[in-house]
Amino acid sequence: MLRVFQHDLRDPDHFVITLELVPGRESTGRTVDAVMGIARDAFADGRISAVSITDNPGGNPSLSPDVIGNEIFKIGLDVIVHFTCRDMNRVGMESRALQLAMMGMKNILALTGDYTGAGFGGQGAPVFDLDSVSLLAMLAMLSERIGAAGDPDGFCTGCAVSPFKGTPGETVAQYAKLCRKEAAGAQFVITQLGYDAGRFARLLDVTRSLGFAPPILGSVYLLTPTAARIMNAGRVPGVVVSDALRDRVLDEWRDRETGRQAAVERAARLAAVLKGLGYKGIHLGGIHRDFSVVARILDRLEHIADRWPEFLADFGITGDREENASSAAAGDICALTGGIAPTLDPLEKLHFNLMRQAHGMFFSRESAAAGLWRALARRLDSHPAGRMIASTLEDPVKRLLLGCRHCGDCGIVHLAFLCPESQCPKHTRNGACGGSRNGRCEVHPERFCVWYRAWRRWAAIGESRRLADGCVPPRRWELNETASWLNFHLGRDHQGSGDAFTRFCRSRTCRTEGLRG
Ligand code: SF4
Repeated sequence: MLRVFQHDLRDPDHFVITLELVPGRESTGRTVDAVMGIARDAFADGRISAVSITDNPGGNPSLSPDVIGNEIFKIGLDVIVHFTCRDMNRVGMESRALQLAMMGMKNILALTGDYTGAGFGGQGAPVFDLDSVSLLAMLAMLSERIGAAGDPDGFCTGCAVSPFKGTPGETVAQYAKLCRKEAAGAQFVITQLGYDAGRFARLLDVTRSLGFAPPILGSVYLLTPTAARIMNAGRVPGVVVSDALRDRVLDEWRDRETGRQAAVERAARLAAVLKGLGYKGIHLGGIHRDFSVVARILDRLEHIADRWPEFLADFGITGDREENASSAAAGDICALTGGIAPTLDPLEKLHFNLMRQAHGMFFSRESAAAGLWRALARRLDSHPAGRMIASTLEDPVKRLLLGCRHCGDCGIVHLAFLCPESQCPKHTRNGACGGSRNGRCEVHPERFCVWYRAWRRWAAIGESRRLADGCVPPRRWELNETASWLNFHLGRDHQGSGDAFTRFCRSRTCRTEGLRG
């Protein structure tokens, strides 16, 4: 396997440059030729540590990153494979990971993934059996297995983070999830795209003060009018392009050559700012035709890198950078919220309090009555009629209060007593996906993201850190349509089972001292 990317990541003096490529919907022809041409030129240029290949971007079918990545690998250029949770269940994902390991392609960017788009005959079924945190955990465990079988090179796994969220709650949720991702084994981080140097600086400050180890690459993009319009409209989940920036780009491109020059300059300046701030490298996107524009950006970066403080104003920092970032110093994620303690509306408050009380009474292993509930559960479980009674009691109550889907492996305790099955289209149990926008769900913008609601609930009682508690194993499908109350008390669900995944998760706790509020 090639280890260029891993080597460059570890080299303290190396500013890492990765290039994102998007394969098209064909197996041969123009789009494949373009990707392979860019990869060949990137290899010849020598400044790119690895190309990363997207995995059905936007949820739409495209050539597999594993296949085209392998072709690029043969050129001698290192590859990062994007690996999403959208299209395969855990069986398929493990199989794919083994296949990648056998091909020597072990740099993996683990992502929950955009929601499903249109494929053959209409929209595809959303799988989301794992989320990005449980995927990282799976890859870390697989690395151990591969190692035990004689292959010393485990996976080099990375993750994404968006420091550009529109609300404090989403921002805290992103940082809390990043904390879980690091604990689950992420070895590098790539940011979402945004043009706010203050937020970029804050991400570094917060992660440093929390003692995060993984190096961070900041996203840089060649912003064309089409991309600026699409991103500004929120059609690329997690990416932020303001109205003002979109208008500036449209203005610049009134003349094509001026527009292209401005796009190269903006990309080079943002790269210089990221380098100056202390990012480990940049992740360059928006390159679809040829490598020459990448070379122009990198040449320009070499010329202007030392002048980076002059460019801070281009990306929203107008005063002293230290002053701008100081509010997030010392790992005080609470500062990101401006100390806000949200006021819940009466119904939300009633629901939260009711569920907390009920949980403390009936579903706490520490409660005085725990032994009694366990004995009752054992008795009910010992007979089919008892199991039916348990289901009949549980089902209507939880359907009414939570929109319960009867998954048999209840995860509400991780989500401030909201249901990840019915209220999150991606069923995330370890934190918000990157797609929320101003607190709204990527998939159903008419409602709030369930993790934004969870943050509001925990923050209202000063317990935001609960968003980062532990690593939550995926739901156990063997319990589908059984009584989760029995499964909990009899230790069969993800909280009680002692399987390898659960043990791994229990051993990986993120550092939450800095998570307050
Ligand atoms: S509810 Fe939140 S985490 Fe779930 S899909 Fe929507 S935006 Fe993503």
